[in-house]
Amino acid sequence: MATYKLPGPICQFWNWEDIIDGTLARAPSPSPQMIGASDSDSATANPAATTGGCPYLNPRSTGTVRAPQTAFDHLRNSSSSARTTNPQQIASHSWSGGTSTPAIEQNIQIGNQTIRVVRPTDSAARGKNLPATSQVAEALRAIPSNQRTHTSTVILSPIAHPDSTTGHTVAGAAGSGVITLYPVSSTQSQNDFDNHFMHESAHNYQGHLWNSGAAVAEWGAAARSDGRLPSPYAGENTGDDFCEFLILYNASRGTPCEATARHLYQHRWQKMTEYQSR
Ligand SMILES: [Zn+2]
Repeated sequence: MATYKLPGPICQFWNWEDIIDGTLARAPSPSPQMIGASDSDSATANPAATTGGCPYLNPRSTGTVRAPQTAFDHLRNSSSSARTTNPQQIASHSWSGGTSTPAIEQNIQIGNQTIRVVRPTDSAARGKNLPATSQVAEALRAIPSNQRTHTSTVILSPIAHPDSTTGHTVAGAAGSGVITLYPVSSTQSQNDFDNHFMHESAHNYQGHLWNSGAAVAEWGAAARSDGRLPSPYAGENTGDDFCEFLILYNASRGTPCEATARHLYQHRWQKMTEYQSR
């Protein structure tokens, strides 16, 4: 039987630039409502609204999901610490698109998992707004180990993605255990990297879970049953819907926000919980 392959590349996360430019802050938000106060949580209503303490769970009107720093810090509290090996010089690394330059390689050890990081030299990284290795390590620590185990390599490319154009920056990609970040024009915070790495690692995790078209369709059915999207980016395709929701799932599980998340995304929550045991 032929091996099922997801269409690739399975993530070309191009719209971070729109978000970090601050357009989210200027975008109109749905007016808050109490859950159950109206028919806004019926199968067809979108967006719904959460109660006050967990606004990040609300369906976004623009861009992508963005869980707060406190949620990632909570996840890191139950994670092993990270140990990073000394940087090793690589004489020539071929980045996606074919350009080769000198590079630096390090391993990040978290618990019993080792993740290889390939980054540009300091001079080549200047102005590219890529994370420091320590920021990568912190972002990886926030990803639950059963999901993180499906990511083996992080590539921080100083060369733009071949599909990037003026006004359309491919900022990240993932698949087959590799996460690649590309240069962006705006400064990135740890919270930006936390959200980006969790989204991209979710693509590698779904590659483990989805071994048939039917398996992908099961997620799509759950998403449709919920009747709302976590973000417009989740509407790009089934794979990105999974990644956007997994950020909300990880961020809210075991916190006072969990009940709200279960309410808003009942069918996705059930399916994602089922996945956790695989
Ligand atoms: Zn994606």
